[in-house]
Amino acid sequence: MERSVNDVNQTSVTKHQLGVILCQCCGEVIDTVPTNGVKTLYGICEDNHCRALSVLRIDAAPAAVMND
Ligand SMILES: [Zn+2]
Repeated sequence: MERSVNDVNQTSVTKHQLGVILCQCCGEVIDTVPTNGVKTLYGICEDNHCRALSVLRIDAAPAAVMND
């Protein structure tokens, strides 16, 4: 009278990764995250070109004047 516990566990543990993180420069999928719904997040991927662009965007912000 033994039941297969493994089958029940595998069903309940199944996860769906609905959230996706995209590179805002090249649109490549960086990572996926489990969420309660379909979500799209934006970040910067490992690509040197994309990281350079992200730095330029930060530099484009109002520069702090270093006068004392
Ligand atoms: Zn990228």
